[in-house]
Amino acid sequence: MQTVTTAVYNKNEEEEKKLILREYRALLRALKQRIKKGDKRLIRRAFEISVDAHKDMRRKSGEPYILHPLAVARIVVEEIGLGVTSSICALLHDVVEDTEITLEDIEREFGEKYVKIIDGLTKISNVVDLRADTTVQAENFRKILLTLADDPRVILIKMADRLHNMRTLGSMSREKQLKISSETTYIYSPLAHRLGLYEIKSELEDLALKYTQPEVYMEIAKGLKETKRDRTRYINEFIKPIKEELQTQGFNFEIYGRPKAIHSIWNKMRSKHVSFEEVYDLFAIRIIVKSTPEREKEDCWKVYSVVTNFYRPSPDRLRDWISVPKGNGYEALHTTVMGNGGRWVEVQVRSARMNEIAEKGLAAHWKYKEGAPSQQESKLDAWLHHLRDILNNPDTDTLDFLQDFKLDLFTEEIYIYTPKGEMRVLPKGATALDFAFDIHSELGAKCIGAKVNYRLVPLSHVLKTGDQVEIITSSKQKPSEDWLSFVTTAKAKSRIKYYLKEEKRTIAEDGKAMVQRKLDHMKLPASPHNLNELCLFYKKPSLLDLYYGVAVGSIDLKTIKELVVTGDKLHQPVKEVKEIKEPKEPGKQKSSKAGPELIIFGESSDKIKYKLAQCCQPIPGDDVFGFITSGEGLKIHRTDCPNAAQLLAHYGHRVVKTKWAKNKEISFLTGVRILGLDEVGMIQKITNVISSDLNMNMRSISIETKDGVFDGTIMVYVHDREELDELCQKLAAVDGVNKIERLEAQEE
Ligand code: MN
Repeated sequence: MQTVTTAVYNKNEEEEKKLILREYRALLRALKQRIKKGDKRLIRRAFEISVDAHKDMRRKSGEPYILHPLAVARIVVEEIGLGVTSSICALLHDVVEDTEITLEDIEREFGEKYVKIIDGLTKISNVVDLRADTTVQAENFRKILLTLADDPRVILIKMADRLHNMRTLGSMSREKQLKISSETTYIYSPLAHRLGLYEIKSELEDLALKYTQPEVYMEIAKGLKETKRDRTRYINEFIKPIKEELQTQGFNFEIYGRPKAIHSIWNKMRSKHVSFEEVYDLFAIRIIVKSTPEREKEDCWKVYSVVTNFYRPSPDRLRDWISVPKGNGYEALHTTVMGNGGRWVEVQVRSARMNEIAEKGLAAHWKYKEGAPSQQESKLDAWLHHLRDILNNPDTDTLDFLQDFKLDLFTEEIYIYTPKGEMRVLPKGATALDFAFDIHSELGAKCIGAKVNYRLVPLSHVLKTGDQVEIITSSKQKPSEDWLSFVTTAKAKSRIKYYLKEEKRTIAEDGKAMVQRKLDHMKLPASPHNLNELCLFYKKPSLLDLYYGVAVGSIDLKTIKELVVTGDKLHQPVKEVKEIKEPKEPGKQKSSKAGPELIIFGESSDKIKYKLAQCCQPIPGDDVFGFITSGEGLKIHRTDCPNAAQLLAHYGHRVVKTKWAKNKEISFLTGVRILGLDEVGMIQKITNVISSDLNMNMRSISIETKDGVFDGTIMVYVHDREELDELCQKLAAVDGVNKIERLEAQEE
């Protein structure tokens, strides 16, 4: 495992004071042009309060705590582009949470505007401490989103806070690193993406990768460094003719190539099953033109035309986000052209204004909006409104909504037109029914079909950009369970679930009456205690489920007599205590339930039963964590398991530190994927390596060949990671084998 080293902190009081003042002055310099009369005193005051409130606190690294709010304030100004109010709130963002200072103190010193923002920030930090159960979390997260819709500055400052915490994660314990990184991947980077904070989103994801999968991160970082010279040469050659032509035409512009983020290279390697060397688009070319608002669109297309005069574009890779900006406000032209040496190169063209929006997202968007107040409501505003509507609706099931909402954050968008020509933005994969719900909940609930471009289609029809859709309704229609299988938007899902629940409630009324009658008959009161006993007995999570079950007949009330009655109270029947009979064959006892001895939990090295998660099939030597499931005891996952981020972020309190003990007695089933050329005797060569050279136990091998290429999966028993690595190395060395990888984990 990689250890992150941070310089040991040893400064004396005098040096510390100097350092703090230096950071404070840097903040003032960053704010410079924005400081108006009277601001300076307020900033000074916020700084003093924060210094005093945090004076006895230190960060994990040993540094004085005040350096953190100062750094957050600078990120807020320099990297997000916010002003004085936000930097004051950043300076004070942790005081209410962590010190004696109260919101009333803030109100007295600064006024109501500040209280609102700082209160929002305090609430968010409570949510980030994800030890509460999921319903409470969801409720808290709803509050965050409401604050976001109210005053986006709260979430922007929170982003800066998170970014600084991620940048300084090195001095935290390994468990903290995993937990905070997972939370970041789970909540903050999708939100950053949705808000158009591309730079921050990208850095957050790179840092999260660095801490969750240090080896992967290091390998790619090394690869980028080693190929830097070649890349720079290629970029310079590519740029040269474009640059000269744009200069001749009198453009004021900037052109450069920049490497893609490590996490996006990693995503590509994983999704396309290629190695670092095979990722062709390690960089993108960016051209930023200075232009006026009236001419910028025209200028961007002129630049596009210059680029494509030199390099042939791929016709299906043109993206015009100028005519139709992305939902998060992003505007640019993207094209992919064929560069020298047969390499595809992505070129992005933007005006300086569009570039600022691309880098600072929501914040920049605000700035331009204030500059031109007559501008119509942007999509980002529309999104914020939409968010507010849903969240304020008391009928929305918060937990469900947030789950779906999160999925909405990352998806691509399509543009659909109403019969009157109004454009609506939906996520890719949306169906006619999603569209109906997007227009209006009632329209969705009564929808029986649609006409797409005048052709009749079913509810489940998947829409494409440019489709014109007319919804057909019937007053007799009502939502059904199977609708949930083909809608994709959070709005449609939450509305359908709501209707279904309502219906269930109506039906449950009958069940309620039946339970009541039964209890009357037994001369028992329908007291909370008795009803609770009934839920327990029939294994129903809620009264609604109990009543519903009775009404639809899945619960037979006759069995109620198995319960014990004392006085007017029901009790669970006393079960005979049965010995759980395990097949105990003398002498063979141990191997039948081998696992437990393998793992040491925490510092206590207690032996606990556990299961290995099916989704990622960890083996000894893998970086792992234990997760306490609700029904199946402890499960061990790999930290790079696709489910890890969600588990760690959502149920941090159920995570148990685990590591492998040395033990070579038990072997684990694992799989490798092997790709290569279909040569004669290939299978023999492979099986030789496994069975003869390494003396491993193979369970199965399946190979598909097509057009001279084979793609095989081998399941073998290994003792630990070391053995697996050795196997992979040996197989890779076989003639004709191109690629070996551990079997891709599946979502559970
Ligand atoms: Mn903080």
